[in-house]
Amino acid sequence: MVTIDIRKNVELIRNSIEEGAAKSGRQAHEIKLIAITKNHAVEEMVTAIRDAGIMYIGENRVQEAQTKICSWPEEVQAQWHLVGHLQRNKARKALEIFHTIQSLESESLAERLERICVEMNRTVQVLLEVNTSGETSKHGVAPKDVQALLDFVIEKCPSLHVAGFMTVGPLTDDENRVREAFALLRNLRDDLSSSTGVSLPELSMGMSGDFQWAIEEGSTMVRIGTAIFGPRSY
Ligand SMILES: *Cc1c(COP(=O)(O)O)cnc(C)c1O
Repeated sequence: MVTIDIRKNVELIRNSIEEGAAKSGRQAHEIKLIAITKNHAVEEMVTAIRDAGIMYIGENRVQEAQTKICSWPEEVQAQWHLVGHLQRNKARKALEIFHTIQSLESESLAERLERICVEMNRTVQVLLEVNTSGETSKHGVAPKDVQALLDFVIEKCPSLHVAGFMTVGPLTDDENRVREAFALLRNLRDDLSSSTGVSLPELSMGMSGDFQWAIEEGSTMVRIGTAIFGPRSY
């Protein structure tokens, strides 16, 4: 059996983040490391938080996060982000668990989240998920439709605070294509931020295989699973 040294892995990633930040003229602390914990156990998550200083965790499924919360040690704190597709009928549960919903991709989901936030008398941070690669298997709103969704959320959903955009890069080793997708997200953000006057500081892009490119293209949140916890077993 291979032992995974979570602490060592996180240290290596933080070094890469520092390098990438320097290359893009930024400080490492401007880039959040979100540990993606799908298919990993609560014990591994707690190790990452306690021993490796992880502050943000990302889950793909509401159901899995809910199960984990049931055996979560009360004294261990982290900020929970939902990074996977959210079905409308799970919106309420999601709002009970997550600080940030990174996968907002439709007006109907925004409407539902807004209605429940009003009921709960709270607000929630959201990112709009954009399909920057055009791959049909990917979730997210098409780049040409981002403006309409952003306008809708700004005008109709005062309980949802849009902090920026999220994307999953194309599944390829072709550095140029991957960087193009990340640059597209950054340019969209720059354009829409200036046209709406909303600041949109966050760009959630970059995973284990491509986070260094993402940082050089302006990422402020890298979502990393495999490089921290090793391969997932299903
Ligand atoms: C699984 C997942 C990640 C992490 O992927 P790794 O390659 O394991 O780092 C990041 N973002 C999303 C949306 C994911 O589903």
